[in-house]
Amino acid sequence: MKTYDVVVIGSGPGVYVAAIRCAQLGLKTAIIEKYNTLGGTCLNVGCIPSKALLDSSHHYYVATKHFATHGIEATGLAVNFEQMIARKNEVVSQTSGGINYLMDKNKIDLFQGIASFENATHIIITKSDGSIEKIEASKTIIATGSKPASLPFIKIDKKRVITSTEALSLTEIPKQLIIIGGGVIGLELGSVYSRLGSEVSVIEYMPNIIPGMDEMLSKELQRTLKKQGIKFFTSHKVTSVENKGKEVVVIADDKKGNPVEFKGDYTLVSVGRKPYTEGLGLQNAGVKVSDSGQIETNAHLQTNVTNIYAIGDVVKGAMLAHKAEEEGTMVAEIIAGQKPHIDYNLIPGVVYTWPEVAAVGKTEEQLKEAGTKYKSGTFAMRALGRARASMDIDGQIKVLADAETDEILGVHMIGARAADMIAEAVIAMEFRASSEDVARSSHAHPTYTEAFKEACLAVHDRSIHS
Ligand SMILES: Cc1cc2nc3c(=O)[nH]c(=O)nc-3n(C[C@H](O)[C@H](O)[C@H](O)COP(=O)(O)OP(=O)(O)OC[C@H]3O[C@@H](n4cnc5c(N)ncnc54)[C@H](O)[C@@H]3O)c2cc1C
Repeated sequence: MKTYDVVVIGSGPGVYVAAIRCAQLGLKTAIIEKYNTLGGTCLNVGCIPSKALLDSSHHYYVATKHFATHGIEATGLAVNFEQMIARKNEVVSQTSGGINYLMDKNKIDLFQGIASFENATHIIITKSDGSIEKIEASKTIIATGSKPASLPFIKIDKKRVITSTEALSLTEIPKQLIIIGGGVIGLELGSVYSRLGSEVSVIEYMPNIIPGMDEMLSKELQRTLKKQGIKFFTSHKVTSVENKGKEVVVIADDKKGNPVEFKGDYTLVSVGRKPYTEGLGLQNAGVKVSDSGQIETNAHLQTNVTNIYAIGDVVKGAMLAHKAEEEGTMVAEIIAGQKPHIDYNLIPGVVYTWPEVAAVGKTEEQLKEAGTKYKSGTFAMRALGRARASMDIDGQIKVLADAETDEILGVHMIGARAADMIAEAVIAMEFRASSEDVARSSHAHPTYTEAFKEACLAVHDRSIHS
């Protein structure tokens, strides 16, 4: 029987990062993944394929809507959807192959099969050919991720009533796409199909889309996506979803409780994700799971069984690839005897619509609720030379800083390249920068990042360009 210092279950972003860090720290490491391809949700049916389709559809949208203004005459533009999906698949398989390379390079053993605990130190692997292998692990890190959630009365048939997984591999562009849930995944995939010509309706239970993010972001995003043609039905509670062959009928109660009927050829159910632990045999190891299905852990991501850790979507916190990665690194270092730390307040959240939305730290609503005294500075993208040059004038950046110390408490961005720009805010906040620190740092001109500097200047009522 093979024995390991660390066995990691899964192969998503939490896992391969944890495995590589373990190997770097001299620990004999193995990973077990039930599918033939590595990379988990993120790489196969999440972050990467969605961004590939967002990029392809964005090119098409810009070509059809903005090329003429740029002075480019493009006639006969058409979408070859089969090729678009094929390119997305190619991006996925190249990236997944890259993880296999990293496993080899770091001398990490890879087992393909379903992992199940026999007890706290022994794991049984059931391979796709039905054969079984048992291995021994001093420490185990569980990162079995999550699966799409649904509502109790909705039957996901994967044909007309679909989740994000199917939406990433459709064989045709929907004519009318109904999206249940105005969160990140629904809006990203809604943007893809809206840009490609689908009539998209988003039904959201809460009064705002992207609930939980700063209200400025949700209002500004809704306004901009509406301009792009997406219809929004907020404060609507879906009560039934019926597949009628080539048509799906969705009924939702509006604010006043009146039923509203929606018809489409596809309905995407994007109401969140739930932790996935099926078949893991957690009970054999004695690992506790909460009522919501998450594996319970302490601040060191250690379960109630001391040699078993859990990270990523299967534990509490934001379901984000980079959160899983930070946790993978932290657990590897803890196992190796180090004392790492994650500040969860500084894990950024991003929505890859266009304009992009990105945020870190506290929202204005959270600061108000906590009674924190703060100052705020905003800067509109339309006042930025770089944004006008590229015709990306929608959006703004808001900086919230402590009223007394000026320490940056939250940054909320909507605009071109916000997903990349938020890194500057994260670094600033990691080093506990004041808004004046950022305002006094030189930002290359013309760049989108000047909007962050300007918003910091605005905290002190001294913005230059607005
Ligand atoms: C459409 C979509 C878009 C997204 N976009 C983004 C984004 O842009 N940015 C971002 O940060 N996050 C994004 N996410 C979220 C991100 O994909 C997840 O947060 C991330 O993948 C979680 O990583 P993980 O390692 O915890 O688990 P996962 O990536 O879910 O990996 C878990 C792995 O464990 C395997 N597994 C499960 N049970 C077993 C078992 N018993 N034995 C062996 N293997 C097992 C599974 O097969 C899977 O490969 C997106 C998600 C979706 C669905």
